[in-house]
Amino acid sequence: MASDTTKYVFAFEEGDGKDKKLLGGKGANLCEMTQIGLNVPPGFVISTAACLEYLSTPDRKLPPGLLDHVHAQMRALEEKTGKGFGDPENPLLVSVRSGSAMSMPGMMDTILNLGLNAGTLQGEIRSTGDPRFGYDAYRRFIQLFGKVALGVSDSLFDKQFEEVKKACNAKQDVDLSASDLKEVCERFLKVVEDATGRPFPEDPYQQLEIAIKAVFNSWMGKRAVDYRKQFNITPDMANGTAVNVVTMVFGNRGDDSATGVGFTRSPATGENKLYGEYLVNAQGEDVVAGIRTPKPIDRLQVEMPELAAQLDQLRDRLEGHYREVQDFEFTIERGTLYCLQTRNGKMNATAMVRTSVEMEREGLISKREALLRIQPELLEQMLFPRLDPKVKVNAVAQGLPASPGAASGVAVFDADRAEQLGKDLGQKVILVREETKPEDIHGFFASQGILTSRGGKTSHAAVVARGMGKPCVAGAEGISVDVDRREAIVGETSFKEGDVITIDGTTGKVYLREIPTVEPDFTPELSTLLGWSDEEAKLKVMANADTPDDARRALKYGAVGIGLARTERMFNDPERLPIVIEMIVAETPEQRQAALDRLLPLQRKDFKELFEVMSPNPVTIRLLDPPIHEFLPSEHVLERELAELRSLGMATRGISVLAGAMGLLHTPDKARHDIDAMRRMVDTSMVEDAIAKKEAMLKKVRALYETNPMLGHRGVRLGITFPEIYQMQIRAILEAAAECSRMGIEVHPQIKVPQVCTVQELKKVKSFVDVIHEEITQRYGHPVSFKFGTMIEVVRACMRAESLAEEAEFFSFGTNDLTQATFSFSREDAENKFLPLYNQSGILQDNPFEVLDVKGVGKLMQLAVDWGRSVKPGLHVGICGEHGGHPNSIAFCHKAGLDYVSCSGPRVPVARLAAAHAALLAQD
Ligand code: PEP
Ligand code: MG
Repeated sequence: MASDTTKYVFAFEEGDGKDKKLLGGKGANLCEMTQIGLNVPPGFVISTAACLEYLSTPDRKLPPGLLDHVHAQMRALEEKTGKGFGDPENPLLVSVRSGSAMSMPGMMDTILNLGLNAGTLQGEIRSTGDPRFGYDAYRRFIQLFGKVALGVSDSLFDKQFEEVKKACNAKQDVDLSASDLKEVCERFLKVVEDATGRPFPEDPYQQLEIAIKAVFNSWMGKRAVDYRKQFNITPDMANGTAVNVVTMVFGNRGDDSATGVGFTRSPATGENKLYGEYLVNAQGEDVVAGIRTPKPIDRLQVEMPELAAQLDQLRDRLEGHYREVQDFEFTIERGTLYCLQTRNGKMNATAMVRTSVEMEREGLISKREALLRIQPELLEQMLFPRLDPKVKVNAVAQGLPASPGAASGVAVFDADRAEQLGKDLGQKVILVREETKPEDIHGFFASQGILTSRGGKTSHAAVVARGMGKPCVAGAEGISVDVDRREAIVGETSFKEGDVITIDGTTGKVYLREIPTVEPDFTPELSTLLGWSDEEAKLKVMANADTPDDARRALKYGAVGIGLARTERMFNDPERLPIVIEMIVAETPEQRQAALDRLLPLQRKDFKELFEVMSPNPVTIRLLDPPIHEFLPSEHVLERELAELRSLGMATRGISVLAGAMGLLHTPDKARHDIDAMRRMVDTSMVEDAIAKKEAMLKKVRALYETNPMLGHRGVRLGITFPEIYQMQIRAILEAAAECSRMGIEVHPQIKVPQVCTVQELKKVKSFVDVIHEEITQRYGHPVSFKFGTMIEVVRACMRAESLAEEAEFFSFGTNDLTQATFSFSREDAENKFLPLYNQSGILQDNPFEVLDVKGVGKLMQLAVDWGRSVKPGLHVGICGEHGGHPNSIAFCHKAGLDYVSCSGPRVPVARLAAAHAALLAQD
């Protein structure tokens, strides 16, 4: 509870521009811009603290005294502007805008033109001499206030508006005359009165109080709550919305007025050039809502050259001050430029990376800032697919390239349907709309991409899609969307809900079929940035890669070695599986050895290829890990096949009997001949043989059955019970290394043993290695250097780290299994069964299989690192579970003193930047 003396209201001249939590991002920036001398319309901010106080009262009451302060500020505004709030002679109008500490575009409410009523409207008309302008402002205010503050449905207003338009034969809003708009105002006032049972409030101070409350309420509105949940915006990051009360300036006061939005650099490419759009004689909402398609900012040079120069200056001052790309709104009212708002620009990954590198080179930011301003996860966007250039298909429509990347999916025409098909049924969907609104947000989450037929690159659809990193084509005006019929007409053709379409957000093209996509390349700026990352990072980034192709990709992404090659993946090849099965079902060591002898050259070839691709980087090969029955057919399938074979056996026996009996019946020669042929075709001994093999397999499968295979006969336990398997793999690794060395290829093989829980296991496997190594050294005439280490993925391995370190040259944390073992949650089932509920209800903050559980699993890891290094100070330690590519988990690995992280190839760039972040932030 705040005290009576708490200050809730701040004039733009006095608010602390750095205190975004108190004033919201927009409010803080308005204060800061005012204080550095930019031309901001006068105004004040009501703090987020007031919002929280208001929301905490049971009947939602504004904090005591708040309105007195608001009134005092309104009087100050009257003085600054020379106008009067509610004064019919010279009315002061204000906007009432939301704004929290975190940008939540379009999620909360804003009301414009507040202060208009029957009296001030006439004053406005008199002072501007422009009745059309006055009625236009009034109808906008009634609708916005009606919707936001009084909860009247937009559609009631839209219906009236369309009726008037139709009656006057007006195609666009601008075609309506003053008297048409007057009629609209009258109808709108009636809509409000009918819907609320009360006349529209006339008293401007009453309007202001209602509006402030409405903006505060919108913090807890469904849209805003959903958005915070989706983007993990915690109260720590943003708590409550501020209210900004700002003097209205009008971009729709004639042809010397305009309104627009600008980015100080291109949010799509990062190019160092003012980017934006504007509309002459229009209000800001027209640009953002995409109602009229705006002009590119370059045109301003032609239409208003002097203002274009001022806008360039504004851009330089904003960037110079904030040292960050700014996304700003401006209005030109009768030749005067105002800056209405600025915030850090949301950009796609390509633009973030390019601006980081270029701003560092321009001396605007330091290298440290260049790295830290990019969230590592964002880099994944740069690996987004693009359309396969080999596929030549004509586009059916061209829109604006609003958010890069390409996607295919079935067309859907509303957000709910997108959610149904995309989220619930797991289909790939493209959300197709005329224009999007904030309430469509759930449809964005469920879609692969967004296509709109109206609006610019700064329209809602474009901004939201870019933030989410989803492809978006906006303003494809050749497409006419009919939501009711769930159909879109494109010239002579059309597509319906369920038809597959493809959009390319990089070119703005739309196609009426599915088009394959290819991986993009690194930009030179990304290579530069990741180079800087590597200079800062302490952790090395390796890759989990099982094939030469994976390895090549990992190298391209900057991996400095393979931290985990899972050998079981090499066994799944259809040509190899039968040999693997032979090895498993072998009844004698000799039979097993025969199968292994056939596998050996194949494995040697695998390893040789990996070594060649990765040379001279280390390649860590893990000996066979999974339960062996994973390679065998399932019991259920075998039983079914056996039943089929048995009935075939009976049938063939029947045919034999029949053939014999036919002889007795003295049937004609031809029939007897046919029956003999049949008997020869269905050889009973062949069927019996097949039955015997299946039965043997079934017996083996049953014998190998385990109730809990993940905790059963797998990993090193296999290697100890079937030493020939590990011996074959060890031999393949060392022979491949020896052959590479002989060819002059530098190799650094590392052998690691999975599922180890006691040093005796390691010693046993090491004894195989020593014998084979000795023999190969003799045979090849030179020793092969290698490292021998262990996975740490069971709890006992952590507890016995000191002892394991005596035998192992490196530790590699398998945090997938270690998480399973620490929580006793099955990694196979937890994520589908109870974990979602655990996360939703806050029992667990995160999914521990995705985000490393630092408090539990992390503690075990730290103990193992410390104990291991107490015995072997230089012990090399890394992580190769999925967490190795997760930025927060990487930060922990840095703190815990690991040497490397290993993750899947496409996450390598993310991990490199995350490793740099970890190092830089640890210096603070
Ligand atoms: C692990 O357990 O973290 C690991 C890397 O091994 P796998 O996922 O193959 O069990
Ligand atoms: Mg494992």
